[in-house]
Amino acid sequence: MAELTNLLDLDPAQLVAYCGELGEKPFRAKQLQRWIHQFGASDFDSMTDLAKSLREKLKTRAFIAAPKVLSDHTSLDGTRKWLVDVGNGNAVETVFIPEENRGTLCISTQAGCAVNCRFCSTGKQGFNRNLSVSEIIGQLWMAEFALRETAGVIPGPKGERQITNVVMMGMGEPLLNYEPTVTALKLMLDDNAYGLSRRRVTLSTSGVVPMIDKLGQDCPVALAVSLHASNDALRDGLVPLNKKYPLADLMAACQRYLEFAPRDFVTFEYCMLDGVNDTDAHARELIALVKNPRLTVPCKFNLIPFNPFPESGLLRSKNERIKAFAQILLDAGIVTTVRKTRGDDIDAACGQLAGEVQDRTRVQERMQKMSAYQEKFGKNFGVLVEVTS
Ligand code: SAH
Ligand code: SF4
Repeated sequence: MAELTNLLDLDPAQLVAYCGELGEKPFRAKQLQRWIHQFGASDFDSMTDLAKSLREKLKTRAFIAAPKVLSDHTSLDGTRKWLVDVGNGNAVETVFIPEENRGTLCISTQAGCAVNCRFCSTGKQGFNRNLSVSEIIGQLWMAEFALRETAGVIPGPKGERQITNVVMMGMGEPLLNYEPTVTALKLMLDDNAYGLSRRRVTLSTSGVVPMIDKLGQDCPVALAVSLHASNDALRDGLVPLNKKYPLADLMAACQRYLEFAPRDFVTFEYCMLDGVNDTDAHARELIALVKNPRLTVPCKFNLIPFNPFPESGLLRSKNERIKAFAQILLDAGIVTTVRKTRGDDIDAACGQLAGEVQDRTRVQERMQKMSAYQEKFGKNFGVLVEVTS
């Protein structure tokens, strides 16, 4: 018997083609897609406006399933984190961050990551594998309907939506898992699925230059670039991919992308590392980099207080330093925000992702190391403190 198709793997065009193969008209694909992505249906029998014969056909050939949820925790500040099973002992993380007028979901695109940035615990795990479309969009599907259930909201199209923004900032480098990522993006934007505007979907990349260009052509959404350094020598050491795509190339790619982007700026993420990239001189060098008269990149800076983990050997910049650094950028007329750390009581902050399920014994080890570090560096090591700009 032919293998069953997970309908979460199909983007709008593919679903039309799939229905075509079953002898169905394109509008059936739209109906089916609405049942899946707007009502959260996984049972074909519940799709009452589809002909019984089609439902029976689907039951023998297809299914609808997101990856299994291993754990589901809500933090004191409302941040909710799911750990999602992607097989072979690997798990990825999905995080929901509620704010006053919006709800943002942070999703993962790979199990592990090959880029291996110095300050990132995902990178330290190495690369395990790319996620499939159903594993990527399945995080949004699973989270949206779990949140609706918790909020007591009846499933249905627009209006009752809990997730208003998506950021691809979880585990993995989305542009190194390009096709599935773009397919998932297309579903996020489609009116018969999640109908999010391009401005409300952000892809974060460590700077895979050719793929930034390709994204501009295929599916331009808001772009965040993980900069973290003001010169090549420093960035080579923090983001190894910089050796392949140095800053001049990256800045040029950002400028090209803006021609297609839904926003008129790129967001530069900058992880604040004590004594490494956080001096006044670094801030001034950054200004020169983005305001280079030969190549100016309209941008916004998002300073991320580093989330320490013992193996990194790095420390988070002091709050005062972060504020002073932000002020230099602000004085140069660059919009700068400092990311508030959220969900730290459930380990949902950036770079603290999912390693623990890979091997339970490592959790123990990590805890021991953490207390050794706290003895050495003070009790605030590893504890995230909220910073406001
Ligand atoms: N691979 C992509 C997206 C996932 S990482 C990228 O690198 O952009 C999402 C963001 O979290 C990136 O800006 C990354 O640099 C940052 N990050 C990773 N580890 C971190 C840590 N320990 N503390 C703070 N930010 C971290
Ligand atoms: Fe990969 Fe992003 Fe982590 Fe770098 S920061 S190792 S690119 S997930």
